[in-house]
Amino acid sequence: MKTIGLLGGMSWESTALYYQWINEQVRHDMGGLNSAKIALVSVNFGEIEHYQKTGQWDLAGLVLGKAAQQVEAAGADVLLICTNTMHKVAPQIEAHISIPLLHLADATAEHIKQQNMNTVGLLGTVFTMEEDFYKGRLTDRHGLEVIIPSEKERQVVNRIIFEELCLGVVKDHSREQFLEIIDAMHQQGAEGIIEGCTEIVMLVNQLHTRIPLFDTTRIHVEKAVEFAIRTSN
Ligand code: GLU
Repeated sequence: MKTIGLLGGMSWESTALYYQWINEQVRHDMGGLNSAKIALVSVNFGEIEHYQKTGQWDLAGLVLGKAAQQVEAAGADVLLICTNTMHKVAPQIEAHISIPLLHLADATAEHIKQQNMNTVGLLGTVFTMEEDFYKGRLTDRHGLEVIIPSEKERQVVNRIIFEELCLGVVKDHSREQFLEIIDAMHQQGAEGIIEGCTEIVMLVNQLHTRIPLFDTTRIHVEKAVEFAIRTSN
């Protein structure tokens, strides 16, 4: 079995899900007492969020690049950046390591195309919903049509992510707001919705709506386990 490298802590609320779900998936696939080989480095999200807010992405890339080196040094065979947003600095992180990066936007796009869908709505931080590193990658590299919420709705989604979900706070009212935004994108033609922030599944899951959801945390976990148990050393 290969060792899965996790660059986590952004936030730790979702990294905890990664740890649990990867192990559950390995137990499901391999049975018995089998569990995942994981090398995890967890950063201080307060520091990273400060760099986001102040536009110091180079510094964030440096901190995460060094953390990724620690993941590799701990024996990881593949790296997962456990946040959609920080894929903005994926090229800088990759420059620090020699193991492959399991890019979350690529994994998600492949999953969507396997479902024969082409038009999807995207929820995430404002960076993820608006910028080329994520939304642009889905459209330009993978040929998906991507619908995003209105400016006002994007602010609502972003606020709930940073002021609630990343702090482990899950509110019914926020879920209602998310479901309204999901419905609006569906009416605009989205066949399914990407939960493009690793904490959103804490708030909205497939039990809450009939519109297909693509939970990026779950997709990332499944791809990682597939990679880890495909080979036997
Ligand atoms: N975990 C979130 C994501 O998937 C947001 C936290 C962050 O800004 O990294 O984008």
